[in-house]
Amino acid sequence: MPLINCPECGKENISDQAENCPSCGFPIKAHFAAVAEATQRLKYPADSVFQNESDMIVSKSGSTYTVTGYVDAGNAYGAKERKYFTVVVELTSVNSDNFGYKVKSFKWES
Ligand SMILES: [Zn+2]
Repeated sequence: MPLINCPECGKENISDQAENCPSCGFPIKAHFAAVAEATQRLKYPADSVFQNESDMIVSKSGSTYTVTGYVDAGNAYGAKERKYFTVVVELTSVNSDNFGYKVKSFKWES
């Protein structure tokens, strides 16, 4: 199980399956799910730079999180384009078929 650092407070060696940072409560799993989903939808993911995770906006309703942020993504001309996105992620129990979340919706904002 990979260990990660909290993007908000920097606490080290947190399980990537943790819903929240044990130190500051940052919603780690929802953030990583949102960034993974946006990365999958980029044409040139290797060139992309995401907004600092702790600056993305998160709202929570039960086990459903809405994450809003931006990514500076490469385009076909080698230039960077800032794209805003909103991802709705529902955290679920972890099993062999998933990483403990489901993406309910994803939208690029114009
Ligand atoms: Zn933290």
